[in-house]
Amino acid sequence: MLKPAVHPALMSNPDTITAVKGFRDVLPDETRRWRLLDEAAARVFGRYGFEEIGLPIVERTELFARSIGDTTDIVEKEMYSFADRDGTSLTLRPEATAGVVRAYLESGLAQRDPTARLYYRGPMFRRERPQRGRYRQFHQIGVEAFGREDPLVDAELLVMLTRYLDDVGARDTRLELNSVGDAVCRPVYRERLRAFGTARLAELCPDCHRRLERNPLRILDCKVESCRRVVASAPVVLDSLCDGCRAHLDAVRALLEQESVPYTMNPRLVRGLDYYTRTAFEVVGATLGAQNAVGGGGRYDGLVAALGGPDVSGIGFALGVERLAMVVPAEVGAEIPPAVAVLPLAPEAVGPAFGLATRLRDAGLSVALEPAGRSVKALLRAADRRRARVAFILGEDELRAGRATIRDLVRHEDRRQALALDAPSAVLAETVRSMLGGDA
Ligand code: ATP
Ligand code: MG
Repeated sequence: MLKPAVHPALMSNPDTITAVKGFRDVLPDETRRWRLLDEAAARVFGRYGFEEIGLPIVERTELFARSIGDTTDIVEKEMYSFADRDGTSLTLRPEATAGVVRAYLESGLAQRDPTARLYYRGPMFRRERPQRGRYRQFHQIGVEAFGREDPLVDAELLVMLTRYLDDVGARDTRLELNSVGDAVCRPVYRERLRAFGTARLAELCPDCHRRLERNPLRILDCKVESCRRVVASAPVVLDSLCDGCRAHLDAVRALLEQESVPYTMNPRLVRGLDYYTRTAFEVVGATLGAQNAVGGGGRYDGLVAALGGPDVSGIGFALGVERLAMVVPAEVGAEIPPAVAVLPLAPEAVGPAFGLATRLRDAGLSVALEPAGRSVKALLRAADRRRARVAFILGEDELRAGRATIRDLVRHEDRRQALALDAPSAVLAETVRSMLGGDA
């Protein structure tokens, strides 16, 4: 799963170049599934007024340093940064929220359409330790909604997220919710947590020692088993919320309950990134093991201003496509559209076969066109490999008569049907579709 073993045929060859560790190929069995996930995003998010934004993969390093926060794992040690030829420090985006905010400001959307709703999809890059469900290039589908601080937006986003997961057939996931407070109450909580951690320093990992100094909330996110045991008894942010944050959370919860959205409160849920305020949530996959977060998100009310924009709020989430694909049933995207094979037996049949294939393709069918000069048996084997269900066979007899033989490859019966070689697209397609019984 992590990285397909190098094919034995390549292993013995020292000249072979393999992919970089943590970077993987996405083969057709997977891209087919991913396409359905993309299409569902466009469809479901569209109902909530989200439109797609395309963003560059490379941004200035300072964009991430300023938005994600330089005390996070991402900025501290996971970014792929490099100096451009003119010395500018650039970074392969580790996430897309910062880029969306930059674009929102730079394009003038912040003025023209302050409550813009945008979604994105594409690759992200983080130099983490590769393992199942964790790669150095991975993919996200995410959304951001700007300019609204009312709890209705939080609830809308969460309903949309559950509808999306239902739409793609995601199984065994649960939604976890928390509030991480705001500029009023979080500093108070941060100090409580720091005091708690400092008293139990010996049980915490070296990373958490550093976190305690610079960003104590992150100890709640630590994946080291001993740290997890310690933080299980840490004070929770919910007990420190100010009145404003408490009211916001209560309102979100009431709206979710009104729409019967199932969720569980997780008072230890914090997001890895610094800019979150109030609502924080995660979609957790029960069957995923250690890398169990399918997606996460929350409010980031201070981020736009931190990046030099007006003081507008934002809220969003990002789903990890690789992990999402793991909780979606195998059938999703497994079906391949039925194909037609065009099989020229003799060299003279190549031209007519090509014409036939073109007209079938023009009619919307998927056609495998084989080269001439092989036996019928070899050609039928090739058709099978291309998963064809109907074959047009053009031998000498057929050419002489100006007719192709059509064979039903599914029933393995010689249900032959003759057809004029120069039949128009529509007639050819109709013949194939009637043989496939409406599957095409
Ligand atoms: P994790 O706790 O698993 O490290 P995260 O909090 O770093 O996740 P986010 O930054 O919130 O993750 O990104 C949202 C989603 O992107 C995650 O829930 C996960 O599904 C996916 N994701 C994050 N990092 C990776 C990775 N290295 N490989 C694959 N998917 C990832
Ligand atoms: Mg992470």
